[in-house]
Amino acid sequence: MAKQPMLKFVTVQRDMPEKRGAELRREDFHEIYAEFADAKAAEQSARCSQCGVPYCQSHCPLHNNIPDWLRMTATGRLKEAYEISQATNTFPEICGRICPQDRLCEGNCVIEQSGHGTVTIGAVEKYITDTAFEKGWVEDIKPAAERGESVGIIGAGPGGLAAADRLRRAGVQVTVYDRYDRSGGLLTYGIPGFKLEKDIVMRRNEQLEKGGVDFVMNCNVGEDISFAELREKHDAVLIATGVYKTRDLSGPGAGSAGIVRAIDYLTASNKASFGDEVAEHKDGSLWAEGKKVVVIGGGDTAMDCVRTAIRQGATSVKCLYRRDRDNMPGSQREVANAEEEGVEFVWLSNPKGFHGDPVTGVVVQRMRLGQPDATGRRSPEAIEGAEYVEEADLVIKALGFEPEDLPSLWEQPELPVTRWGTIKADFRTGATDMDGVYAVGDIVRGASLVVWAIKDGRDAADAMLKRFNAAAASVAAE
Ligand SMILES: Cc1cc2nc3c(=O)[nH]c(=O)nc-3n(C[C@H](O)[C@H](O)[C@H](O)COP(=O)(O)OP(=O)(O)OC[C@H]3O[C@@H](n4cnc5c(N)ncnc54)[C@H](O)[C@@H]3O)c2cc1C
Ligand code: SF4
Repeated sequence: MAKQPMLKFVTVQRDMPEKRGAELRREDFHEIYAEFADAKAAEQSARCSQCGVPYCQSHCPLHNNIPDWLRMTATGRLKEAYEISQATNTFPEICGRICPQDRLCEGNCVIEQSGHGTVTIGAVEKYITDTAFEKGWVEDIKPAAERGESVGIIGAGPGGLAAADRLRRAGVQVTVYDRYDRSGGLLTYGIPGFKLEKDIVMRRNEQLEKGGVDFVMNCNVGEDISFAELREKHDAVLIATGVYKTRDLSGPGAGSAGIVRAIDYLTASNKASFGDEVAEHKDGSLWAEGKKVVVIGGGDTAMDCVRTAIRQGATSVKCLYRRDRDNMPGSQREVANAEEEGVEFVWLSNPKGFHGDPVTGVVVQRMRLGQPDATGRRSPEAIEGAEYVEEADLVIKALGFEPEDLPSLWEQPELPVTRWGTIKADFRTGATDMDGVYAVGDIVRGASLVVWAIKDGRDAADAMLKRFNAAAASVAAE
């Protein structure tokens, strides 16, 4: 049997593969997904062998009933496919777009393992829910009865919103507090619009708002309202604040103008995509057009930065990473996309210092891979005397994120944290050792994935409901 051609998932250049870097313009990109019509969805779904050992399902953090909704899609029963899909996933159309499927469901498809190319599970999942919205099958959030309990959720990212959805459907009074002006967390201001269109996220925000979730935006907990006040006000509090402290660079010149944080660069770009005025685009400080851009890091955030810089019309975009391609943390699919768009990867290279202020170049130390460390991963080590200067007039630091120091910021020394600063919470329920305080998503796991935040949010909501029901039952028994 011939290998099935893979569906093109993400942005590709349209008709002009000879163009690179500054030659590319926004209209040169075929944004988001290639067409995925009924016929294609059915054809892909029919490729599922219904193997009976659904590794795809067990490797999906939500344990989505993938074989079932593929079978429904293959036979044209799309509404049922949607119903099965949304039973386990709060935001299937979002996961379908941005889950690293090659590391999760699709990477474990038995057809992929036999060398015939995976069933394109993510694309089918996205398609099913997009169709459900189009056809009006997605029901509003309408609790059968209102409940008296109230929950305060800090953070309107996927973890907080998944919990809000589940609690509100059960009739709980839910208030979400967020320091940004728009809800969605990194779905709105981190992940670029060419991977996840912003109207898809806003559609869910509207659904929650319409369903009675109260959003208090531009509210920085710890500054505008204290954590203690929230505990007073609500029967339970959920911390879903994500991780935002950027790992920094050291070395001479590391503080020079023109060296910026990935989160600032991507937030500015996302704000602009909503039509907001972005001062840093006007003054050029977070705008790549006509610049030699160097992005430092090898994770998915770095991939988002390089691909954004290409779209802004950078003259050249290089990505420096201290290990090699096989040992990078980012998705291989994203690297392939970036390469296709004209990004150059400079493997085994580490920044040692910077020239100029504003920056004019990065002093690059060449590396090699040494012996494996305790985790089995080969450590990068410097090759003595092997360094050179890479020209740059915009350097973007994408070295990962750490949690902010919440116990200090919120004056809550008893808030339980791990030695990495993440909140210590039960992985099954999100419960912390503080009475009525739960935590989910990146602030518990460290920088992770949207699908895990959704799972945590759902689980914590279920645990809270169980607690509320038990309390109500014990009052009734008195
Ligand atoms: C650039 C980038 C690209 C990514 N791409 C992908 C991808 O393609 N696929 C994928 O699965 N994952 C991706 N991730 C990871 C994913 O976005 C996160 O794992 C996920 O968003 C975590 O969800 P969360 O709800 O825990 O936190 P977040 O999404 O970070 O949301 C936290 C919210 O809390 C708010 N907040 C924080 N502190 C306070 C406070 N004190 N008061 C009030 N509000 C507060 C923030 O404003 C934010 O809105 C990416 C991450 C980044 C940075
Ligand atoms: S939620 Fe993510 S991992 Fe699970 S089936 Fe969907 S795309 Fe795959």
